[in-house]
Amino acid sequence: MSDSDRPQAFDTLAIHAGSAPDPATGARQVPIYQTTAYQFRDAEHAARLFGLKEVGYIYSRLTNPTVAALQNRVAALEGGAGAVCCSSGHAAQIMALFPLMGPGRNLVASSRLYGGTVTQFSQTIRRFGWSCRFVDLEDLDAVRAAIDGDTRAIFCESISNPGGYVTDLPAIAGIADEAGVPLIVDNTLATPWLCRPIEAGATLVVHSLTKYLTGNGTVTGGAVIDSGRFDWSASDKFPSLSAPEPAYHGLKFHETFGPAAFTFHSIAIGLRDLGMTLNPQAAHYTLMGIETLGLRMQRHVENAQAVAEWLDADPRVLDVSYAGLPASPWNERVQRLYPKGAGALFTIRLKGGYQACVDMIGRLKMISHVANLGDARTLAIHSASTTHSQLTEAQQIAAGAGPDLVRLSIGIEDAQDIIADLDQALG
Ligand SMILES: *Cc1c(COP(=O)(O)O)cnc(C)c1O
Repeated sequence: MSDSDRPQAFDTLAIHAGSAPDPATGARQVPIYQTTAYQFRDAEHAARLFGLKEVGYIYSRLTNPTVAALQNRVAALEGGAGAVCCSSGHAAQIMALFPLMGPGRNLVASSRLYGGTVTQFSQTIRRFGWSCRFVDLEDLDAVRAAIDGDTRAIFCESISNPGGYVTDLPAIAGIADEAGVPLIVDNTLATPWLCRPIEAGATLVVHSLTKYLTGNGTVTGGAVIDSGRFDWSASDKFPSLSAPEPAYHGLKFHETFGPAAFTFHSIAIGLRDLGMTLNPQAAHYTLMGIETLGLRMQRHVENAQAVAEWLDADPRVLDVSYAGLPASPWNERVQRLYPKGAGALFTIRLKGGYQACVDMIGRLKMISHVANLGDARTLAIHSASTTHSQLTEAQQIAAGAGPDLVRLSIGIEDAQDIIADLDQALG
């Protein structure tokens, strides 16, 4: 292999993938294309674009050059064939499921998920006639048993929010393959710097760009990255991708676009009709954030390890869920599957229970009490009374968010300052 054929490494892709000097102006940074529409060359050009006979820009609900640069960058970082960005992480989840599901169909999901996702899957998607079966991914037989002829996807988080559970992605991907259904992995907490689910066998990766990829708590955004590897035509389970599409004169997405079928469908049907579009300003902030993803994640993980070790040794703390600690049940797995570290989000349980958690939150000075994570700042929240409050207590405990827990999202400040604030807040 000559040097020029060498695939670029992660930190290089984080800066260069999807962006080249602007052909119109030479602008070196990706311009914010703040436009709704794009002038067609002539009537024939317009007709070809609308008929999906040629790829190009029509209207910013579907495609926008700033958003496209971000799509190409996240696809490159995840090792995918294509990506579609959307207005939030939750929008990305609906966008990922939309081409797969239909009335009467179900998905099998991990019981350890972000609280908002548990609500989306246990309640909201039922309005579309879809349903979700939650299973403990440690019980592989239960995962197999939950899959039936109407199952259209398996869904999990690589590292789960908030409990820091580490999913055995190769094992779950094996089950998805046996069943002939796609595996969707929410890689928000790990980021592609720590974990690349497609390499572990995932079909689709979803992200809340709101978190580490943007990295500073400025925008909401989401992305769906397609591996390009799933054979949508192997069965009749995925007619949106394999059967003729009436709105495009009988075009079959998989036959026509091959590994880009899912991404084309997500733009031409998903964004066209659901309209969960990411705006170019938000895409710009996320592109800026991604440039430093590798540097930031390294510091996030180092700080999380230092803070978790300090908390673990503190008598006021009952336990710390961080998978980077040797006592964690997921420590061996994280070292094997995600050797760069266990992320920067974990929970602590306090000896004083619910009241001690509320008191600690009240005494924090530098650390912010907010419903977000993956910010440069260290953040804390009492999950049971906030992000996971719509769940039953049993669901809270299953999700790793019981009433005596505080969730910490460790930032990139100096670790000693984070520890000092926690020390005084623990009282
Ligand atoms: C925040 C989050 C989401 C939802 O993302 P939004 O951008 O807030 O819609 C989904 N999954 C995980 C793991 C998250 O942390």
